[in-house]
Amino acid sequence: IIHEVGTTRMGDDPKSSVVNSNCQAHDCKNVFVVDAGSFVSQADKNPTWTILALSWRTSEYIVDQLKQKNI
Ligand SMILES: Cc1cc2nc3c(=O)[nH]c(=O)nc-3n(C[C@H](O)[C@H](O)[C@H](O)COP(=O)(O)OP(=O)(O)OC[C@H]3O[C@@H](n4cnc5c(N)ncnc54)[C@H](O)[C@@H]3O)c2cc1C
Repeated sequence: IIHEVGTTRMGDDPKSSVVNSNCQAHDCKNVFVVDAGSFVSQADKNPTWTILALSWRTSEYIVDQLKQKNI
């Protein structure tokens, strides 16, 4: 398989991951990773629909956070 994913792993623990469940960097609240970087592993299946779904969800989260003036 050549499905490039990972490197900015998603997770709750900043010690073992780069972004949280909203694809938001633990270390910098204004940085969001909306590609395949947040994948924690490569499942057998094609990743692109999941990349798009996570990006869409993150976009809505960004709008929400902007309205609340959190970012
Ligand atoms: C031959 C092939 C077939 C595939 N077929 C499928 C398929 O049928 N279905 C499916 O779901 N997935 C498929 N994949 C996997 C899918 O394409 C990747 O998993 C997905 O594109 C990863 O998305 P990404 O945005 O994380 O990275 P990428 O799509 O690789 O995007 C990274 C971008 O960053 C840019 N970039 C790199 N370095 C820099 C830099 N220093 N400065 C600025 N920009 C930079 C690159 O030019 C690129 O545009 C295929 C992959 C390959 C190689």
